[in-house]
Amino acid sequence: MRVIQPRDPAFKFVVEAIGDDLVIRNVTATWFSGPGDPSDTGRTASGVSTRDNPKLLGCALPMDGFRFHKTDGSPIPKLPWGTLVRVVNRISGQTESFPLIDLGPSKYATSGAAIDLTATAFTLLGGNTDDGVIQVDVIVPRGVSFLPKPLAVVDHEQGTPKISPAERKRLSWVLRAFDVRAIFRSKRTIAKPAIKSFIESPNCSSRNGTSIDMIVLHCTTAATAGGTINWFLNRKSQVSAHYIVDKNGEIYQMVRDECSAWHAKAMNSRSIGIEHVATATDRLTDAQSQASAHLVCWLAAAYGIPVANVMGHKFAPGNERTTGCPNHLFGDTTAGAVAEWVSTNVANALGSKESRRSCRVVAEPVARKTLQLPGWAKPSTWLARLQSDLLRIHQNVRPLPHSSAAALTALELMTIALEDRRFFYHPGIDVRSIVRETIRALTGRKHGGASTIDMQFVRTATGFRAPTITRKIYEAFLALMIQSRYKKLEILRSYLACAFFGSGLIGADAAAQRIFNKNADRLAIEEASFISAMLAYPRPLHGLPRWELRARRRAAYAVAVFTLRKGRLNGPYEIAPLEGE
Ligand SMILES: [Zn+2]
Repeated sequence: MRVIQPRDPAFKFVVEAIGDDLVIRNVTATWFSGPGDPSDTGRTASGVSTRDNPKLLGCALPMDGFRFHKTDGSPIPKLPWGTLVRVVNRISGQTESFPLIDLGPSKYATSGAAIDLTATAFTLLGGNTDDGVIQVDVIVPRGVSFLPKPLAVVDHEQGTPKISPAERKRLSWVLRAFDVRAIFRSKRTIAKPAIKSFIESPNCSSRNGTSIDMIVLHCTTAATAGGTINWFLNRKSQVSAHYIVDKNGEIYQMVRDECSAWHAKAMNSRSIGIEHVATATDRLTDAQSQASAHLVCWLAAAYGIPVANVMGHKFAPGNERTTGCPNHLFGDTTAGAVAEWVSTNVANALGSKESRRSCRVVAEPVARKTLQLPGWAKPSTWLARLQSDLLRIHQNVRPLPHSSAAALTALELMTIALEDRRFFYHPGIDVRSIVRETIRALTGRKHGGASTIDMQFVRTATGFRAPTITRKIYEAFLALMIQSRYKKLEILRSYLACAFFGSGLIGADAAAQRIFNKNADRLAIEEASFISAMLAYPRPLHGLPRWELRARRRAAYAVAVFTLRKGRLNGPYEIAPLEGE
């Protein structure tokens, strides 16, 4: 564990960097006295009025970097307003997240506090405003990314500052790796290498929902690609691989990635198989090595396969004593030789910089033609249309597993908080919000769409986006129709699985992987709030900082709604354990 010590002894607390979280332990929290003090304007540094919003949820941390003498020297780096800070009551364990709205308390504060909370936030955490203080832990998820440069690094065990140049270099690399801008910066994508031809092998089966997390490297023990292709085309052989890399670097594909090829026994359903044309004594040719590395890089990036899971056939679990493959492809017939090839050819390539121009640009899927309801005189075509739309919806529904008791994930809760708070309590259309929005529209005030998650799912599944009243009514009708067919949770999950989160980001998993590099169901509250905010602000190709700001603001709003309405969002479902993993 590394401890980043305060530079000013007046700041008694220590800031620890644990993983990519910034953790401040055992600090005293007080509450804003803004509204009670006549000399205080009640306006925060982020421009929010605490007087006008007595119910405001928020917190303030003494941050360095504002050139404000009272907080300069604080070990907490300058964090953007709206950053979600997780605060844990040390006595009761109660945990809430609050957006950062102000700077303070100062190092001269007599309370010795290290965080200020708004009165509402303070009471929510179980604090009594009469006592004025509680002891808390403060966590800024992914906060390490905001550290400008490594401060003094202290060896935790010995407690003495000990920074070797190598250590400093290593740490600055870690810090750079967590650079927040890098998280949001368009991720490099590697183009799929050219496939000479796709010759589909009959020897393949469904992956049955298993996701790809392994690449198995083979050697054909045949002198030419042709022989292997014929062998894989032969039903009787009962073997296949996804790709064959020829000696000259040409790549053939024989099984689609989404299907399971028959090449590595029990590992088939989770892996991609790559054959290399070589006899049992041949090594990879240079062209072959290059082409194969490119293919592996692309596969690893496309499916999020850990580099450690790229292995030679006989080193794949369950295949140990069944084969000599990949023989001498990588020199020695050891797992170490394969790993070395992977680390020089794949790991380095994945870690290296690539020009921005090679970023893949994927736009939103083209909307289907505007909805044109057929003439009312012809009910048969009308019914056919309805039937085809219901089928489209059905194809997008993800049935709930019967076995496990369903619990709502953080992302599901946040989506409900932002998009449709009464989701579990209305039948697909929300009469209350329709009335509210209609009144707003009639009185010329700002009004929203009043569309429910059910309607958004129907819209996504059917692909109609025309902003017409007919479309809205038809959408509402479909949303009503699906209520009896599917469970509410099925509708919610199906919606998240197909929703648009930004360029090239279809579905919550894609979005969560891109932004936070984890699956959507593993997101913490703060991360989930950001992903759900992307439903309203899809990630654009350009103008990322402005987008991030807006999405961040909406994410903070989601957390506020969630905190204030806890227990009224989840309907009949349990809430999955939200903090930690
Ligand atoms: Zn093999």
